[in-house]
Amino acid sequence: MRQSSLFSSTLREAPSDAEAVNHQLMLRAGFIRQLAAGIYTYMPLGRRVLRKLEQIVREEMDRAGAQEMLMPALQPAELWKQSGRYTVYGPELIRLKDRHDREFALGPTHEEVITTLVKNEFSSYRRLPVAVYQIQTKFRDEPRPRFGLLRGREFLMKDAYSFDATWEGLDTSYRRMYDAYVRIMERCGLNYRAVEADAGAIGGEGGTHEFMALADIGEDTIAACTCCGYAANLEKAQSRAESHTYTDAERNRMEKIHTPHVRTIEQLKQYLHAEPRDMIKTLIYMADGKPLAVLVRGDHEVNETKVKNEVGALELELADAQTTTAATGAPVGFAGPVGLQIPVLVDAAVAQMPCAIAGANEADYHWKHVVPGRDFPVERAGDFRNVNEGDRCPQCEDGSLQLFKGIEVGHVFKLGTKYSEALGARYLDANGKEQPIIMGCYGIGVSRMLSAIIEQNHDERGMIWSPAIAPYHVHIIAVSIKDEVQMRLAEELYARLRERGIEVLLDDRDERAGVKFNDSELIGIPIRVVVGKHAANGNVEYAERKDNEKQLLSKEEAFSRIM
Ligand code: ATP
Ligand code: MG
Ligand code: MG
Ligand code: MG
Repeated sequence: MRQSSLFSSTLREAPSDAEAVNHQLMLRAGFIRQLAAGIYTYMPLGRRVLRKLEQIVREEMDRAGAQEMLMPALQPAELWKQSGRYTVYGPELIRLKDRHDREFALGPTHEEVITTLVKNEFSSYRRLPVAVYQIQTKFRDEPRPRFGLLRGREFLMKDAYSFDATWEGLDTSYRRMYDAYVRIMERCGLNYRAVEADAGAIGGEGGTHEFMALADIGEDTIAACTCCGYAANLEKAQSRAESHTYTDAERNRMEKIHTPHVRTIEQLKQYLHAEPRDMIKTLIYMADGKPLAVLVRGDHEVNETKVKNEVGALELELADAQTTTAATGAPVGFAGPVGLQIPVLVDAAVAQMPCAIAGANEADYHWKHVVPGRDFPVERAGDFRNVNEGDRCPQCEDGSLQLFKGIEVGHVFKLGTKYSEALGARYLDANGKEQPIIMGCYGIGVSRMLSAIIEQNHDERGMIWSPAIAPYHVHIIAVSIKDEVQMRLAEELYARLRERGIEVLLDDRDERAGVKFNDSELIGIPIRVVVGKHAANGNVEYAERKDNEKQLLSKEEAFSRIM
């Protein structure tokens, strides 16, 4: 590529609203341009790196036995209602209508679409296991899009899904994906930790790990043990450290009171009247995508005003929650991370736990592992800020915890039968009996990875790419394009390297040498060959971006060094 015709330009300074280094560098080097908050154009240099990341992900997914496909981004809302996520997903789900007034959503993830597809295609145990993936643009109306590609509203994700007939099969599928993720992280040169993660809003049962790129701007905190292999998202570490273990009796009781099939206010009232009165109950129920009712202790009246009556607006105003709590003495439970709080039924045993009250009234206190109509919390998070560097490891109890900041670049997740049950994806087992398909889902933020890699690999002059993912392998700088000898040598090297399959960017712009050098360091291509005043003797200056050590080499030496 001749830089004189490259469709992008460098900036001396990044716009002041770009806080993170990776964001500043990508703007300055002309890798991306912003269209709107959290929405970016990938310019040719950025696109090249993104394609290489995609390719690494693709190769490792293929190697893990997953098959590539591509699903629509535009999804009927009906599917989301069936899974129950039309409300649970909250305002992050971008909703729209077609000309016939039919409701749609722009896919933030594809469990609904793929489960429906599998339901219609795979009805026998003989067809299982199967795993698929896609690399596709996702849409999430994030409350705070920031740090460039790190938290976008439109971003590139690889999402994979596995379908098994048995739980052992799921373990195998999960492990295979986990191993693929390890290889992807390594090939991309990320300094990462795989950590036990919180189930968050996806729900489901079984394990989940996050792949965290270590970086100070990371929004997650990781606790890792100095002795054993324990590494966890701090939320999880906290819940482990403080987990309340329920007795079987408690668990049974919770399951009983947590009636899943209430769909109307009438049913809800009936159900509540059938329940023993001695229980404290607070319930905010959702039906058909709308918040339906708030019910509190001893008061079975429907109190709709306490809920923002908007589809998807699940967040009760904190003030509302406080009023409810103050007026009734009963706690309102919320599940899920900040900004995605899912109201849940709180029973007496849970209500007595100290964080139940706090959960309603204070930021950063949340219930965990709760999906309305399904699971009940078996662990509680309490105050996430309470884990400190040096605390005793909850796993081995010998080592102490070290804290790191991390960027979640990947997430593997045992979903179990959550979606197959909700959407009716069943198979016939060897005895001809219908069973729900057992699922896993596996995401990688491909565009987020680009940010994370730059965040970890830069210096004060710019980006530092490794050859595996660099936009080009070699940057040839023709110092003076008016000097015929220099240009002839630069062109010769350019042609010969390209013939050998090396990706070369030739700086043939009519610019001062200083500008060219600065831009070259900013863009960070691994090898730089300067064709300048030594060209008269057939020599060039060779340097690698990672250490910038300059060496005077003959053109043949430079050529063979590169090859
Ligand atoms: P986060 O906790 O950062 O909001 P998430 O847990 O909501 O991420 P997942 O649903 O697990 O995200 O999606 C899979 C992967 O997609 C994440 O691990 C992350 O790498 C990427 N991802 C999620 N949200 C964004 C976003 N807004 N911009 C860029 N990448 C994202
Ligand atoms: Mg999120
Ligand atoms: Mg997350
Ligand atoms: Mg996640």
